[in-house]
Amino acid sequence: ATEAYDDENIFAKILRGEIPNKTVYEDEHALAFHDINPQAPDHILVIPKGRYVSWDDFSATASETEIAGFVRAVGHVARTAGMVEPGYRLLANIGKNGHQEIPHLHVHIFAGKPLGPMLS
Ligand code: 5GP
Repeated sequence: ATEAYDDENIFAKILRGEIPNKTVYEDEHALAFHDINPQAPDHILVIPKGRYVSWDDFSATASETEIAGFVRAVGHVARTAGMVEPGYRLLANIGKNGHQEIPHLHVHIFAGKPLGPMLS
């Protein structure tokens, strides 16, 4: 079973405006902001506004409206940032072995240089 959602996680605090962030895009379903410790020239995180720990509970329990809204927001951010033609990478870490550090679903967008076969 998926762990319970922790309302004190950093991204919950960002969503409540308790911690500042460099917002790239926001709509009713999603918030996109710059990663505080970028691993590529462009490194953006996109999170759903709902209380989802990871891809697991999101994919299993979010409404189709939330899922569509989030997926479209990720694509919109990359498109608007001009990443489509040069290309970019999406990554979601899930759970312990996936090295997920923050227990609120987030998709990483990496871009701005040729990324190679994988990020370490
Ligand atoms: P994870 O390993 O959970 O997939 O990635 C968490 C990401 O969140 C890391 O890339 C880390 O740099 C980023 N991060 C952690 N704390 C903060 C924060 O307070 N603000 C922002 N913008 N990013 C954060």
